[in-house]
Amino acid sequence: KDGVYLEIQTTLYDKNDHLIFVRDVTRLHLLEQMRKDFVANASHELKTPLTVIKGYLETLDMFKDSLPKSMQKGIVNMSEQSERMEQLIEDLLLLSRLESNDKREENQWHKVTDIIQAITNAMGPILTDSHTLQLHIPEEARLYGSYKELYSAFSNLIVNAVKYSPDGGNITVKWESSEFNGVFSVQDTGIGIDPRYIPRLTERFFRVDKGRGSKTGGTGLGLAIVKHVLLHHEAKLQIRSQPGFGSTFSCHFPASRTRNDAMTAIAFQS
Ligand code: ADP
Repeated sequence: KDGVYLEIQTTLYDKNDHLIFVRDVTRLHLLEQMRKDFVANASHELKTPLTVIKGYLETLDMFKDSLPKSMQKGIVNMSEQSERMEQLIEDLLLLSRLESNDKREENQWHKVTDIIQAITNAMGPILTDSHTLQLHIPEEARLYGSYKELYSAFSNLIVNAVKYSPDGGNITVKWESSEFNGVFSVQDTGIGIDPRYIPRLTERFFRVDKGRGSKTGGTGLGLAIVKHVLLHHEAKLQIRSQPGFGSTFSCHFPASRTRNDAMTAIAFQS
């Protein structure tokens, strides 16, 4: 029946018989939908007042020099916090869109180097002034999916590598493919993660160190976004880390979503 959600589970009862459990999860489903709608609507509604606040702050900033020192500090503080709030709203809206599955961009083949180039260009000096970046991505690597979603997942992983590595750290961004899969990975020489926290990293708002999180300016939603994007692309996230030595985040894409254009060219010739 329309609008009824059932969860069906079967278990082997004895040699020949099966037990079938049928659970009506319609109420749970409705509650989950209400939660999603609430987050999406609240985030959307917060955008307008924030735009007004940011507008006034920009005006205040222009006259900053004529104000007392304590007020100047206050303006800088408010500007930083409103930037943070804007990022939080953007991330919440992106997560809502990813969860709701609607308005999804059409999947297409993309050059992996194009996505990474766009990310490193956007990050600019934040990345290269403080860290050494090594890129090992073959020109011929192609990935099938949504450009915007892949961009946000890969960029969250690269931004995290920078945030959680001290200055002078090395970041290696790689693409490796085989006949079975294509693997995108970001490796850093940063603070690493205690193994007991690894299973919780993709939960919304989960942070290993809450205090540090507010200083580094993250929203605690980055890896939740990565998880949803990978789900849409039938990919899996693998996290390996050694506290004090660094971490590697790898996205494993199925072979059906990856392509090596050089190999395609050779295959056509023969
Ligand atoms: P945040 O905005 O706090 O970075 P994320 O969802 O991106 O949120 O990450 C969740 C938490 O996982 C971070 O707060 C941090 O504790 C940990 N983390 C993520 N990436 C790394 C990394 N490369 N090295 C060490 N810790 C990391």
